[in-house]
Amino acid sequence: MRHDFEYIVVGLGGIGSGAAYWLARRGEQVLGLEQFALGHVRGESQDHSRIIRLSYHRPDYVALAKRAYDAWSALEADAGEQLVLKTGGLDLGPRVSAIPLETYAASMRACAVPFEELDAPEIMRRWPQFQVGDDVHGLFQAQSGIAMAARCTAAHQRTAREHGATLLDHAPVTSISERAGEFDVTAGGERYRCAKLVIAAGPWSNRALAHFGLHLPLEVTKEQVTYFASPDITQFAPDRFPVWIWMDDPSFYGTPVFGEAGPKVAQDAGGKPVDPDARTFDPDPENFARVSAFLRRYLPSAIGPEIYTKTCLYTLPPDRDFIIDTLPGNPQAVTVIGAGHAFKFASVLGKIASELVADGRTDAGIGGFSLNREILRMSNPPKSYMV
Ligand SMILES: Cc1cc2nc3c(=O)[nH]c(=O)nc-3n(C[C@H](O)[C@H](O)[C@H](O)COP(=O)(O)OP(=O)(O)OC[C@H]3O[C@@H](n4cnc5c(N)ncnc54)[C@H](O)[C@@H]3O)c2cc1C
Repeated sequence: MRHDFEYIVVGLGGIGSGAAYWLARRGEQVLGLEQFALGHVRGESQDHSRIIRLSYHRPDYVALAKRAYDAWSALEADAGEQLVLKTGGLDLGPRVSAIPLETYAASMRACAVPFEELDAPEIMRRWPQFQVGDDVHGLFQAQSGIAMAARCTAAHQRTAREHGATLLDHAPVTSISERAGEFDVTAGGERYRCAKLVIAAGPWSNRALAHFGLHLPLEVTKEQVTYFASPDITQFAPDRFPVWIWMDDPSFYGTPVFGEAGPKVAQDAGGKPVDPDARTFDPDPENFARVSAFLRRYLPSAIGPEIYTKTCLYTLPPDRDFIIDTLPGNPQAVTVIGAGHAFKFASVLGKIASELVADGRTDAGIGGFSLNREILRMSNPPKSYMV
């Protein structure tokens, strides 16, 4: 097997698989290295579904989300399979809340995204599954839906290979050094060389960035989602029930039935910090109790026997904004970190990483996601995960 490549991608989760795909699609020589099996469940990306939406709290995210849909469409055309299912999306919460809907409405208006503002009676008229008081209001955006996560990542990997990429599993990168304008990368006991590097290591980002003397104030948390065997699952079919997010602290979210015989419900950022190598896969019963209490109050017809609860990791910068940038003093190396809400952007972030590392520039507006921002240089930064 060859050991010299133009590009190496470290980490083949959601985003790294996207980067490998977009680089290979350009005709570049690409090696992707994954420490575990492809499609493993130890990182951030593996489940049937992730919410995709244009509704975001800042215009730069809305603009990026528009590009995200375009990137998935391009991949769907290339892969010949559907990867995004539009169900419509409902953001709802108390009129006075920790996550005000007004910022979402303003961002969508600024980016000419159509949406509807709904009061409580209208929410319950359209989706009688919800039981909310008059203090609750909502925003409905028709393009929201599900990115079929496991299928998306497999499609990136398959089409990357079809475009000529080499993807290796069980190949943990244990050292990266720079010599004469090239990178020496050791993985799984083999040495590889490349001119340019993308690091998409998710929860293991600090370990990978340590090879460049970098350490970021990232918190890795163990999150969980539960599939419920709701008594009448026809009420939660994707053509009758939207993806939804409860916009308050704590924040909850859910999807219609997709991939399992019941809807999925979870608390956002409700998990505790963990070491990604020492974590267990055991669900947190207190988190489950919070989700169940929320359902009993606001979405009672979803409650049913637990099909299963699945754990998964978030990698959280203190401001919960993405990181996508070249490394300081090293424009040949790019890192991408997803901040616990990046699956919907996995393809476009991979594309942007490919542009940054190959062309040295991108026309996507990523100024807010720089490595240089002040909060990433603080030793004890304030954390705000409710966005
Ligand atoms: C429960 C849950 C629900 C979520 N819901 C949503 C949602 O609804 N919508 C949304 O947009 N996002 C959602 N997210 C967030 C989203 O899934 C993540 O932001 C995204 O998947 C991050 O992808 P990643 O590629 O950075 O990380 P990962 O998928 O973890 O990939 C990193 C990869 O790098 C590999 N790696 C690391 N170090 C090395 C090394 N040294 N050598 C080789 N390989 C290495 C790892 O093994 C891993 O495979 C959710 C996340 C969770 C956990």
